[in-house]
Amino acid sequence: MQKHSAITLKRATQWFQSQVQPCLDRPRAPLTAEWSMSPEGPWESVAEGTTWGPAFSERWFRLSGTIPMEWDGTEVAFFAPLGGERTWWKDGAPHVGIDGEHPRIRIADEAKGGSRFEALIQAYAMGSHVRVFGDMPPRDPASEKVGKCELCQVNTALVPYAYDIDFALSLLKQLPETDPGYATLVRALNDCVNLWAEQGEDSVTRGTKILKDAYGGLTSELKHTVYPLGHAHLDTAWLWPLSITKLKMAHTTANQLANMARYPEYIYVHSQASQYEWLEKEYPKLFTRVKKAAEAGQWEPIGSMWVEADCNLTGGESLVRQFFYGRRYFQAHFGNPTKDMFLPDVFGYSAALPQILQKFGIKYFLTQKISWNQFNKFPHNTFLWQGIDGTKVWSHFPPADTYVGSCEPEEIIRSVKQHKDQARSDASMYLFGWGDGGGGPTERHIEFLRRARMAPYLPEIEKRKSAQDFYREAAARSKDLITWVGELYLEGHRGTLTSQAANKQHNRNGEFLLRDAEWLWSFASQLGKDYPANELERLWKIILLNQFHDIIPGSSIREVYEDSDQDYADMQQSGEELIRQAMTKLGSRLDRREHFRPFAIFHNSTLSSQASIPWNQETTPQSLAVGDVRYPLQDVEEFGERKLIFESPAESLGSVAVADLSDLPPTHKPPRLKTGNRKLESDQFTVRFDAHGNITSILMLDDHPQEIIELGNLFQLFDDHPMFWEAWDVDPYLFETAQDLIKSETFEIVERGPVRVAAEIVKRFGNSTIRQRISLGPTPGIRFDTWVDWREHRKMLKVGFPIAVNSGRATYEIQFGHVERPTHRNTSWDFAKFEVPAQKWVDLSEGGRGAALINTGKYGYDVEGNMLRLSLLRSPKAPDPDCDMGEHRFSYVLLPHYGLLQQSQVVAASYSVNAPVRVVPLEPGEGARGEVPRFLGISSEDLVIETVKKAEDAPLLVVRMYECHNTRGSATLTCPRGIRRAWLADLNETPDMELDVVEGGVRLDYRPFEIITLLLELD
Ligand SMILES: [Zn+2]
Repeated sequence: MQKHSAITLKRATQWFQSQVQPCLDRPRAPLTAEWSMSPEGPWESVAEGTTWGPAFSERWFRLSGTIPMEWDGTEVAFFAPLGGERTWWKDGAPHVGIDGEHPRIRIADEAKGGSRFEALIQAYAMGSHVRVFGDMPPRDPASEKVGKCELCQVNTALVPYAYDIDFALSLLKQLPETDPGYATLVRALNDCVNLWAEQGEDSVTRGTKILKDAYGGLTSELKHTVYPLGHAHLDTAWLWPLSITKLKMAHTTANQLANMARYPEYIYVHSQASQYEWLEKEYPKLFTRVKKAAEAGQWEPIGSMWVEADCNLTGGESLVRQFFYGRRYFQAHFGNPTKDMFLPDVFGYSAALPQILQKFGIKYFLTQKISWNQFNKFPHNTFLWQGIDGTKVWSHFPPADTYVGSCEPEEIIRSVKQHKDQARSDASMYLFGWGDGGGGPTERHIEFLRRARMAPYLPEIEKRKSAQDFYREAAARSKDLITWVGELYLEGHRGTLTSQAANKQHNRNGEFLLRDAEWLWSFASQLGKDYPANELERLWKIILLNQFHDIIPGSSIREVYEDSDQDYADMQQSGEELIRQAMTKLGSRLDRREHFRPFAIFHNSTLSSQASIPWNQETTPQSLAVGDVRYPLQDVEEFGERKLIFESPAESLGSVAVADLSDLPPTHKPPRLKTGNRKLESDQFTVRFDAHGNITSILMLDDHPQEIIELGNLFQLFDDHPMFWEAWDVDPYLFETAQDLIKSETFEIVERGPVRVAAEIVKRFGNSTIRQRISLGPTPGIRFDTWVDWREHRKMLKVGFPIAVNSGRATYEIQFGHVERPTHRNTSWDFAKFEVPAQKWVDLSEGGRGAALINTGKYGYDVEGNMLRLSLLRSPKAPDPDCDMGEHRFSYVLLPHYGLLQQSQVVAASYSVNAPVRVVPLEPGEGARGEVPRFLGISSEDLVIETVKKAEDAPLLVVRMYECHNTRGSATLTCPRGIRRAWLADLNETPDMELDVVEGGVRLDYRPFEIITLLLELD
């Protein structure tokens, strides 16, 4: 052996690659290839070197040849390098996946010599042009290339020895040269090379023994147990569209079933119920095999969710439905509702989650994504995670810091060495297999694990233990765990709060649309078959699918957003139709005889806001009549659309009111509204502007008028060149480049009441234009309706309000509650939060007053000092070069208030502004006199009724509320339709405890941020 071990090691590596590996699949025999656009043909021969494409297109190939006579009784495989990812179909179903990591496909362990071999292969081209950073090259119309297809005889005697050598070389990579084991292993490998030089393949038996003996004297002192689980992280859509993911799911599934057949110790875990549903519908034979493998314990459904959803942008009820539909699917098809939340690749974890998990009976949480933090290393791997309400959930971050493990010894050892809670927990999960685009483990992964179990220097590695086994055993064996309180903020991917604005807007609109549809049908139906449960579930699943962690964050390619625009359009239209039907039913119960043009109005809010109906008649009616009250109307033209605006009538709040347009003067006293030169005024605020329409002051008009703002509504443009991951990242140096868009092309007062007063500004910059109408009227606060034509490259647009308050912390709404975050950059943990998520509002308050900035479909904010900013638009160029180019419409509202947040109406106002006032025309006709009382009443402003729906499995009403002010108390829920019985339930809608119904009301106690689900039996 050479004196310098580095030379010997290099020699052994080269020997393995150039001499041993090529012997694994020789000799070879030719296969002929034909192709077609369809599996039925017609077939045409295709030559090696032929190119095809473009990305995401599909081709079918037919390979044929004869297995040589002399291979009779031996293992035979084939190579099909046809381009793209491929799936071999057999008996009308996907059989095995073929790709760069799975190139050699076994035909038979004992093939019949002289027999004919034919294979049908489906191939789909991948998007090799796609970039996640920089400019996208032009798309290659023929990105894939047909290679040489061949049969081969597998050298079964050599295969295990090759894995032994491969593993030994890999083990050496993580050993220090000073370790005695290092020299021993290098010598053993060198002996193997010399033996091969002398005896060639005849050296296999002796070589195997040499390596085995080398391990003999070496020992391991790693006291830790690793639970390896096969996995294929299959993004529901990302750098490829959904249609390709369905093919990938079949490809991955076929591969993993093949692994299970060969390796009885192997267990594969797969999340996302939606992907199982595709398999069930599109590949029923494969799905049956998955169910059998699950029964045998080798295939394990995990994760509990419909998709692996983003947890910053997804709203509260949406999060609930992710688990609700996910678990129901697993229960129905696998007889087992999963008990974990498995989200290895999501960009931050809301502090609302622990309570949601607990109320579903989900006991464990797993991710590794926080290891991607930009600045701070997360201090735990196994710990208790505590949410905003105090609920704790057992949590594990696999210390190997990956969900696409390679099974190299170095990585397995990381599971021990990087485990930061060693004295408290001695077990880790290890997820291995090719992922991100599916595929999953190869035989090499599993063969490596077999060797790792017997090798020195490695921890104990479990065999055929499931994820559930890991959770249960690791939780039982862990002790004295540290608690991490609050959100698991990901220091990275902050641009995903803003990229692909339309998608985020559709998500918010959809969440409020289905909230209304369910609410209305709960009262328009008898909660039986007349409730449109299937249609509502279908629409929910559109929202849930698009909350996948690369769709809603804006990190996918153009095709994904073209698909989701269509999905959302279907959801919007179908949801509105459901609402129209329910409101027609409810409105038609009321008397409409004296109405000329009756219509039904519904506003799912406890506070009034601005309502509108499109208007194109020559004359303008004077008022909107609801019962005996006539509300003022205003004829408004805004951004080229004419409409009548009015205050949502009190009768329409949480109920359906019937209204008519009237030519009689209003009787409802309009609010005091005034305009002046550069001034708007209501009974609550005076807003002053400079010559360019920038807000110079907002005065709150109470007993002691106070100024709440310095220069406000300041549009700022930033250079947005992230270091990498364009659509994903906003990097902190962006803030050094703020360009204040002070100048306006025009500014004028354009509306003077009686419903609202408004000013309009037009700003032009770069190639873009902002038109904005700033108004005071029925909306709680100061309203900013905005139209932007956005044509910038790698810029970010924000709007800022320097609020005149002193506060070290700002409050951000999350699902079912809120969190506080610092307004300073003291520590590296504070600094990292320079761009953060919120749901509908962010509030900045001091002891006596404050202001909230409410959005209607934006999710990114930053607060530094007293500057409260909302992120409006970005313009990354990868992976979608057209991201956010074009026209945008959005609104935001600044709500200055007295007192602390908890005493303000910020939460109620955020619902009032986000819930559209629904208006549906009715036919004149007979009905009951009077008005429909509010469908549900709750006696405390601390409780928000988030959801009202029919129970999934019973003719009962589900009412989901949450405490929104971090306080406790008791309240009474009333329902004029009459409550017979009431139960407290969990999020599965399983009743826990019956509640007393006293005088038609349900009395209940509530805790800070508690999510309360009630089941009601109505009269
Ligand atoms: Zn992912």
